[in-house]
Amino acid sequence: MSGGEANDVVDRLAALRREVEACTRCPLHETRTQAVFGEGDPHSRLMFVGEAPGYHEDRQGRPFVGAAGKLLEELLGSIELTREQVFIANVLKSRPPENRDPRPGEIDACRPYLEAQIALIRPVVICSLGNFATKLLSGSQRGITKVHGVPQEQEIGDHRFYLYPIYHPAAALYTPRMLDTLRADVFRLPQLMTTPLPDVARDEGIERVEAAASSASTARLRADGREAADGSAWQASSDSQLGLF
Ligand code: URA
Repeated sequence: MSGGEANDVVDRLAALRREVEACTRCPLHETRTQAVFGEGDPHSRLMFVGEAPGYHEDRQGRPFVGAAGKLLEELLGSIELTREQVFIANVLKSRPPENRDPRPGEIDACRPYLEAQIALIRPVVICSLGNFATKLLSGSQRGITKVHGVPQEQEIGDHRFYLYPIYHPAAALYTPRMLDTLRADVFRLPQLMTTPLPDVARDEGIERVEAAASSASTARLRADGREAADGSAWQASSDSQLGLF
């Protein structure tokens, strides 16, 4: 990324932040102290998405500054990262009263802001914390206990990334077994951050070859030796597919 492009991202995030801070798209704007846009390195390869601001976040206008935030910082420390080196955001930018669960209408109203953040930051890995962020970003209703710790390839707009669901630190705070699992999942993050995403163009080519191979042209492919070449490409692709961990 050139210096100009990097500045452009910073400027566009700042404009988006102003939009979020003035947002009245859902009723939560009436009860919040202030919106919590998110913060961190806008050029980071790693982004975290939590659920919604709580009491302290609403007061300070910053994400993850309470007890869950302390644990998140400790987990980051375990892989030699600081919160300043990643970007931290939430599904909802406004605190639900009494920290109740986000409602579908609130998630729908706030979703374009998160998607715009992702489109600007373009992280390699998005770590979704808990059920709400995971279900939103995976587009699936499969819950966090089923999908945690397994990277999924996802796409928003023209940006492809690994979605890596993990338990929400607030849920793990008082459940030692969940905390052990969370620590183990976080420990695998650095490797994922340097794992190239499967090459879509190449995989599409392989799908075409597979379709051809299963048709009447199989014999001809064998005859001219192309099957072996394509077969080894497929092998390389499945090695780099998800489920590495
Ligand atoms: N929990 C969240 O999901 N987000 C925060 O910002 C704080 C706690």
